[in-house]
Amino acid sequence: MTQDVETEPGCPVCHAVDSYQLAAPPKDYEYQVAIAEKFGIRVCNACRSEFVSPRPSLDELRQMYPDNYYAYGKEMGGFWQKIYDMWCRSEAKRLLSLSAKRPLHLFDVGAGDCRRFKAMASAGDFKFSGVEMNPEMAQAGCDAGFDISPGAFEEFEPSGRTGTIDVLTINHVIEHVTDPYDTVRKAHSLLAEDGIFTGRTPKLACTGHRYFGRYWGGYHFPRHLQLFSRESLELLLHRCGFREVKIIEELNLFPALSLQNALLGKLGVPLKLEAGHSRFWTLLVFLTAPLSILDYLFRRSDCMIFSARK
Ligand SMILES: [Zn+2]
Repeated sequence: MTQDVETEPGCPVCHAVDSYQLAAPPKDYEYQVAIAEKFGIRVCNACRSEFVSPRPSLDELRQMYPDNYYAYGKEMGGFWQKIYDMWCRSEAKRLLSLSAKRPLHLFDVGAGDCRRFKAMASAGDFKFSGVEMNPEMAQAGCDAGFDISPGAFEEFEPSGRTGTIDVLTINHVIEHVTDPYDTVRKAHSLLAEDGIFTGRTPKLACTGHRYFGRYWGGYHFPRHLQLFSRESLELLLHRCGFREVKIIEELNLFPALSLQNALLGKLGVPLKLEAGHSRFWTLLVFLTAPLSILDYLFRRSDCMIFSARK
């Protein structure tokens, strides 16, 4: 329990005012943005979510993303591009299986430069749209012929689109938004009746969080503004009006990031990073692949996939 109840911020996930500050918070090992120094992490005693505190303004939020942020349009190269295209096609099949509507109107929060849409288009009958915070990426999506609104989802004006979306995806974004409650409510209002809200996010009850601690890649500090447990994510979705909530494990690369963070932050190995990754990134992925697979099999993965119906 905390002593500073009067000034204590509410949990952005469950709104309880009962949390404590992590004594040894993570650092921004990947990009070392100066603004990271202003923030810490609190743990909610009510729902066990962890969250960045104080909460950043939208202006501070933008300062957390340097121009070389890994998700900003970098070409992947042969091997990773093939893996990504395979992943997109399998994701397209998963999304088509969630709804009988054709074309399936898919709205993506954090659409990037729409490379995902391009890779998914051949797998079925889709109508794509979305929102993207980075202006150059949003423009690249528009230039490619997609209906992309520039700006954060927080700023997105849904009028005219409420009740029109069949599937709303939010992959590795819900942990980045300033108010997850508002985000999920907005997703709910955009969806048609029986529409599906689905996405991916890091999961606290995992091997990486337990053993890597402040070096855990899931923190992606300070950009992951809240981190959920299965239970706290389920609570948020139910409170925002969703039903049929399903949460499954996701096989993921966070163990490689945790190892990279520990090498940099704990052991002081002078790794030079480009767009958040060292040139040994592929090696780190292969070294930690057995851990990723074991965690997945034993339900201790760093990430989860959720889906819920309006
Ligand atoms: Zn909470």
